[in-house]
Formats: sequence, C-alpha cells, structure tokens
Amino acid sequence: MNIKGLFKTSLIDFPGKVSAVVFFGGCNLSCCYCHNPLLARDSDILPVIEQEEILSFLQKRVNLIDALTISGGEPTLDKELLSFMKKVKDMGFLIKLDTNGLRPDILKLCLEKNLVDYIALDLKTSPAKYSDLCRVNVNTEAILFSLNLIRESSVQYEVRTTCVPQYVTVDDIHEIGNFFGSVSMWYLQQFVNTAELLDPETQRLSPYPRVYLELMKKAALNFAEQCVIRGL
Ligand code: SF4
Repeated sequence: MNIKGLFKTSLIDFPGKVSAVVFFGGCNLSCCYCHNPLLARDSDILPVIEQEEILSFLQKRVNLIDALTISGGEPTLDKELLSFMKKVKDMGFLIKLDTNGLRPDILKLCLEKNLVDYIALDLKTSPAKYSDLCRVNVNTEAILFSLNLIRESSVQYEVRTTCVPQYVTVDDIHEIGNFFGSVSMWYLQQFVNTAELLDPETQRLSPYPRVYLELMKKAALNFAEQCVIRGL
C-alpha cells in the first residue's frame, strides 16, 4: 500500500469529527494548482508508511478520535484501499474519503460495502477547462458518474472547487452547476500560492479578492443547498 503521510489529529478534515489523516502517494491528474506535487507526482522518493503501522496507531486512538480521513494524491488508485478501509471500519472508526472522482468503479464498491461515511469530491472547473487545469485528458463523464453514485447513496458528502484565477470564474461556476447538477454542500476554496505549486505559471497568479469569491458563491447557490467559502 502506498501511504506516504500520516497527520495524527485533525479538527478540520471531517466536518464535526476528530480524525487522523493518511495521505496516499500518486495521482492520475497533474492539477496546475496542486500544492503537494511531491506526493502527487514523485511519491516514489518518499518512504512508505506500512499499513501495520497505521493500524497500530489507530488501535491506540480508539475512543480518542472518531475517524480516519483518507486523502492523497488519489487514494482510489491503490489496489489495497478497500481491504484497508474494511480493517479501519472493523476497528470502529468512521471514514472520510477525498477523491477526484475518476474511479467511479472503486467508489461504487466503497459505497456498496459501506466502507465510507463522508466523501469529499473535487469538481475542479467547467468541463471545457477541466483538462487544461488538470494537465491531462479528463473524462468528466466519469466524475459525473461518481457524483451520481454519491447522490443516490445516503452517505454525507461535499463537493469542492478551488477557485484558481483564470481556470475557475463565475461563468465556470455556472457551467459546473449546469453539467454536474444540484448538490447539497459546495465548498469554494480560496486559491493559495504561498507553498510550492505543481505549475510555476499558476504560482504567479494572485488569489481572487473576497468580493469576487462572494459572486462565485452567489452563482453556486443556484445549484447547491449550501455553499461555504473556505480559506478567506
Ligand atoms: S490537486 Fe490534483 S494533482 Fe494534486 S493530488 Fe489532487 S487531484 Fe492529484
């Protein structure tokens, strides 16, 4: 299994829960704004944290934390993800999964086997700009399929969009909503360029001012029961 990072306690990853966070190495996208390029693209040079180590850590946290957040990179690429999730669930923890939605087959299994309690799905931009932002050819129909699976389930979820200047505009928010349809919770995340980003050109972009993010939120509320701006 390709776990490359462990954050022992987080109050912000799983809404309303105290969770530990594991980070899987490797990703099928190369988003220009990715703030962890090492984990996404060059994770081979990072040491693996063995599954046994994570499980033993969690065993000591039973009754101290509620949940495990599984993040990346892109966790659904790991062949051992489902068996790992089962072990974590059997210990009594809730599980949150962060995903870019490009593996609906894996997501379907997670839902069918009741292995996940909260899903955070990226809706990165409008279909027309998706491949440009992600620097690879993206099948947005697969992401829509994932979102439909989530919507049809009873699992709590959020969708999230990082508001990268030029790549995500108010018009794109409308296009995202038109293509992906209505959601219960949509987080708009402020673009942050203080840490090293995957693409140096994107690094030079200035984050949107609050007033523009508020316009984006207004647009998003046409498609979401709730919309919250993160990171202001
Ligand atoms: S931001 Fe993009 S490239 Fe980085 S981990 Fe997430 S999906 Fe992968």
